[in-house]
Amino acid sequence: MKDASPATQPETVYLKDYTPFGFDVETVELTFRLAPAATRVRARIRFVPKAQATDRRFFLHGEQLSLISARIDGLEVTPEITPTGLSCDVPDRPFIWESEVEINPGANTALEGLYMSNGMYCTQCEAEGFRKITYYPDRPDVMSVFTVRIEGTEQVLLSNGNPVRAGDGFAEWHDPWPKPAYLFALVAGDLLAHPDRFTTRSGKEVQLNIWVRPGDETKCAFGMEALKKSMAWDEQVYGREYDLDVFNIVAVDDFNMGAMENKGLNIFNSSCVLASPETSTDANFERIEAIIAHEYFHNWTGNRITCRDWFQLCLKEGLTVFRDAQFTADMRSAPVKRIEDVIDLRGRQFPEDGGPLAHPVRPEAFQEINNFYTATVYEKGAEVIGMLKRLVGDADYYKALDLYFARHDGQACTIEDWLTVFEDATGRDLAQFSNWYSQAGTPRLQVTEAYDDGTYTLTFRQSTPPTPGQPHKDPKVIPIAVGLLNPNGDEVVPTTVLEMTEAEQSFAFEGLSARPVPSILRDFSAPVILERDTSAEERAFLLAHDSDPFNRWDAGRELAKASRIAMVTEGASPDAGYLEALKVLVRDDSLDPAFRALVLSPPGETEIAQALSDQGVTPDPDAIHDASETFAQTLAQSLADSLPRLFAATLVDGPYQPDATGTGLRALNGRLLGLLTRLDGGEAAARQFAGADNMTVQNTALACLLKAEKGAEQNLAFFEQWQADRLVMDKWFALQVITARPSHAVAVAGDLTRHPLFTIKNPNRFRAVMGALSMNHAGFHQADGSGYRLLADQLIALDALNPQTTARMCTAFQTWKRYDAERQDKIRADLERIKAAPGLSRDTNEMVSRILDA
Ligand code: ZN
Repeated sequence: MKDASPATQPETVYLKDYTPFGFDVETVELTFRLAPAATRVRARIRFVPKAQATDRRFFLHGEQLSLISARIDGLEVTPEITPTGLSCDVPDRPFIWESEVEINPGANTALEGLYMSNGMYCTQCEAEGFRKITYYPDRPDVMSVFTVRIEGTEQVLLSNGNPVRAGDGFAEWHDPWPKPAYLFALVAGDLLAHPDRFTTRSGKEVQLNIWVRPGDETKCAFGMEALKKSMAWDEQVYGREYDLDVFNIVAVDDFNMGAMENKGLNIFNSSCVLASPETSTDANFERIEAIIAHEYFHNWTGNRITCRDWFQLCLKEGLTVFRDAQFTADMRSAPVKRIEDVIDLRGRQFPEDGGPLAHPVRPEAFQEINNFYTATVYEKGAEVIGMLKRLVGDADYYKALDLYFARHDGQACTIEDWLTVFEDATGRDLAQFSNWYSQAGTPRLQVTEAYDDGTYTLTFRQSTPPTPGQPHKDPKVIPIAVGLLNPNGDEVVPTTVLEMTEAEQSFAFEGLSARPVPSILRDFSAPVILERDTSAEERAFLLAHDSDPFNRWDAGRELAKASRIAMVTEGASPDAGYLEALKVLVRDDSLDPAFRALVLSPPGETEIAQALSDQGVTPDPDAIHDASETFAQTLAQSLADSLPRLFAATLVDGPYQPDATGTGLRALNGRLLGLLTRLDGGEAAARQFAGADNMTVQNTALACLLKAEKGAEQNLAFFEQWQADRLVMDKWFALQVITARPSHAVAVAGDLTRHPLFTIKNPNRFRAVMGALSMNHAGFHQADGSGYRLLADQLIALDALNPQTTARMCTAFQTWKRYDAERQDKIRADLERIKAAPGLSRDTNEMVSRILDA
């Protein structure tokens, strides 16, 4: 028998069913009287029936609200109330709706709507959280002008827009820019400001603040610099200025995601804004800079121009990710950023696109929209824009963007609007290109080649495997950036973008004096899987000579993978040619240290498992782990002579700088210390730990020592030094699990869930332990199923408190079909156990059901 249907079938929302709301919302006035267990929210809203409305029903969303009173034009009404909202008879002319509701922010553990974090009130409304604050048409195409009054505490009181009035125990805010309810925000608490100013290029003065809890005010300077750089960059590159008198950022400890772009009041997970050299790693600094930029850039791509409905999420997210990646490339190293992004895309988006959770960049159906804030919508969404830019060229790209801002400012738009702007600005027909938005799955690109009498021909064949609900795929438009190298390593044909539109297509290069070596898909010009029978010699040649840094790195990556696969499947030794190539590169002081660090970073065990399963081989997690260890050990030994010298060259003098240069050098330092620790029993790591004056080197040293099972003393010292710092303790929790040998990882993670500083209610802490377990590949996939069981137990417990974070973490199971039958049986049993949990949320139910349907 198939599984029984749940008592109430969850409702599915479809793109094709879109209908506009029957009313305009002209103004919204909200008054909050804050109290932890009983906050009162009064709303006064002016509705105007639309002249041409297909649907005149007056339905306001509302969840977990106690309605105290409702009035229309001052007269009491009695709406019909359901668990999801209310309906009411309304007049056939403009009217004023007034309501008062009571809510309980102190009991809100879902971290959606109005909730409390360490005594501070804050909100999270995207995507559909505003309906937990008051009755409202909570949909992004309903945009209105908000005025907010906050009362009830003596503390700092913030909302969107500009401050109007403030006094003893109250503050009023007015946001002149019409916005959807998902961009509403309110914060109240005992906060300190890190203030600054910015003058826009047209001379407007903006007051900037980063608001934090007392004690954190020393960790704001870096974020503030990042904000000012973002504001200047958006003016210079996209011609976009800021549009309010103030811009506020607030750091919150309990937060489901990274950050939120509420108009004029961005709210951040404290891990994504607070930074200091002593407590933050280089990776933290880079991420903080990128997320500050991302949320700031949403002011135009998301807020001034928003989404018509949630199916269009990539309209704002794909574009804003693309913009923040451009920003990081400009601030730091473009090649390093590109390589990092592709590692991330292949590690998170490709598995999603190739598994049970595959969905188009613009999905067409969902049960819970929170489940579609995915790597596909965000990162593949950004890749699609990158392809568009490559196809039309830089000048036409910015011309199209200018038209987009001019034409759609103040509107709630669709992907059709977006593509039409490009068609109008460039004269191109984008009908075929649009299937990047509608068809899921990662295209496979097969390459064959021929050389004859000075003419070199590349033939490409594309195909996309079926995905859930989409058996048939059409050929996509694929920009393939290609360069050709001479046998001596010189470039004979510089980067050219081939535009592939057919299922199979050939491109000829004439007038060559010798058969060239091709460098294909330079800069990763399309999110596809390149399938080419490339010899190890050719890869080593590209690793040594390619002028495209991405492909140079990727050639090394492919060699690393091939060697590891041969070790696992044939019991081969680590590939000698590859080891030799690494040696040459790592000693080449003319190369950027950051690039050398990337070349030295081995593909992770999850990536090897994926590569094996792509070749039809069932991955054995323990064998992959052993091969990875053997490879690293062999590499360390083959570099033994030069390691101490190379390592010493990475020890930077002078004060810590989280810039690209310092970051690159410390990345190389970390890679080399990892290798050195395999040879010296942890001596260098212990020395580095003892002398550390910044978190990057301290954290790296501790990780090396723990991995070598030599760090008990330092582990304790680290804990004692940092136990009062939440963000550093998150690192400590994660390190214990990540560095644990596979057979111990589950026990270590289980013990940590009982640690006095563990709390299931804080998503950062939960992810530090359980997210780390799912990243310890061989630990999570222990053959006895103990990893699956522990994660399922924890997810069941968390779902009752925080469905959004629970559902997100179910993705740890999305690749289950690639493992052996015994493991699959164990995972299936645990997924079914989650599914059967009493009162399971719609969020988690949808995720588990889709994963089980694989
Ligand atoms: Zn975003």
